[in-house]
Amino acid sequence: MTDKELHINKIENGTVIDHIEAGQGLNVLSLLGIEGSDGESVSVIMNFGSNTVGSKDIVKVQNRELNQDELDVLSLISPNVTINIISGYEVSLKHRVQRPEYVVGVLNCPNRNCITNGKEPIDSKFDVKDEVISCEYCGAHIEDVTQHLA
Ligand SMILES: [Zn+2]
Repeated sequence: MTDKELHINKIENGTVIDHIEAGQGLNVLSLLGIEGSDGESVSVIMNFGSNTVGSKDIVKVQNRELNQDELDVLSLISPNVTINIISGYEVSLKHRVQRPEYVVGVLNCPNRNCITNGKEPIDSKFDVKDEVISCEYCGAHIEDVTQHLA
């Protein structure tokens, strides 16, 4: 992210999620459970950039950092995302999300008969190493992670 981009609607403290695949910005917001009702200042920039280099979405959230579960799911939705932690209007930390081998407790299994959907308190566990995201318990596949967020 260049300084010029950062100057669009600068935030004092919080997180800028950059290089979101175009069209996924609103999914990122719902993934983070951000509706603006908690008074967070949020901006979503959609289809930023030119057609030649490809466009992207950017999400800026004031006074909010992401936990590891959120970063993990983010990596599934949009693998090239860059996280910029902002403090005092400056980028204090910048890193890319890394796709983990497994995610635990962040996705719901689409198989209603899966043990993770039963009465026992068992956290879901999905193998996300490959393109195919599959339940460790029953092998069910998830096509669209945004439809199965826990
Ligand atoms: Zn399952």
